[in-house]
Amino acid sequence: MKRFEGKVALVTGGAFGMGAATAKLFAAEGAKVAICDLLEDEGPKRVAEIEADGGTAMFCKLDVTKEPEWEAAIAAIVGAYGGLNVLVNNAGISGSGYQDQGDVQAWEDLMRINATGPFLGTKHAAPAIIASGGGAIVNISSISGVVGQGYIHPGYNASKGAVRTMTKQSAVRFAKDGIRVNSVHPGIMPAMRTSGVTADPVHRKKILDAYVPMKRAGEAIEVARAVVFLASDDASYITGVELPVDGGYLAI
Ligand code: NAD
Repeated sequence: MKRFEGKVALVTGGAFGMGAATAKLFAAEGAKVAICDLLEDEGPKRVAEIEADGGTAMFCKLDVTKEPEWEAAIAAIVGAYGGLNVLVNNAGISGSGYQDQGDVQAWEDLMRINATGPFLGTKHAAPAIIASGGGAIVNISSISGVVGQGYIHPGYNASKGAVRTMTKQSAVRFAKDGIRVNSVHPGIMPAMRTSGVTADPVHRKKILDAYVPMKRAGEAIEVARAVVFLASDDASYITGVELPVDGGYLAI
């Protein structure tokens, strides 16, 4: 029996990277998947890949910072699939592409996309999840939501820290409604589309050697497995926790 047969999962930023891996794993586990992303070229390609593998998926154009787009996306998903059980707040931008750590626009962009985005997602998805009989929210934070890195913009650490503690607020708030809420904290992973220095192989080797006990980067599927676990009934008594997927980075 697949773990998400008859369930509906929404993955923001699902057109690329770890979001795409997560969307595909939900589909392989039987979920109907909504890939919600800015990328109107890549998103439908992921849908086609899922369908080619026998899964069910749809694409919704969504900018996570825009509340009317959230309203439209939730309505479209509930209209198409009859409900919603899982929200993965995964969409985000990197903090490693900025030269100036005092760049105010960078701070505002990072907070708006990485923190306000999940806040709006929770606001608009939770009523649909409750109406569907409950489910789970998984927020993608980062090791950067727990400890600082001197080489990235502080807005990234701040936004991911906000996601980390907002997760606990949501867990407490929605427990009575049958929604579990947890955060996943990836470590050194394949570079993001928006990465700067963290995409540089020399920098990556230095960080892996110095800070990652397992001495390798993670793979997108390794994060996807953690997300799907936390969203599944296998995690039925787990809420409000933060799960690092980081090869031991946060253990040092
Ligand atoms: P990625 O750049 O490969 O993918 C991010 C996705 O989010 C893209 O599809 C992009 O189009 C989408 N997106 C960006 N802004 C959006 C917006 N405003 N509205 C809707 N979609 C938007 O990055 P990734 O590595 O897959 O990262 C996924 C998540 O994991 C992010 O939240 C990121 O901060 C976090 N994370 C990444 C790493 C890493 O090293 N890659 C490490 C820790 C945490």
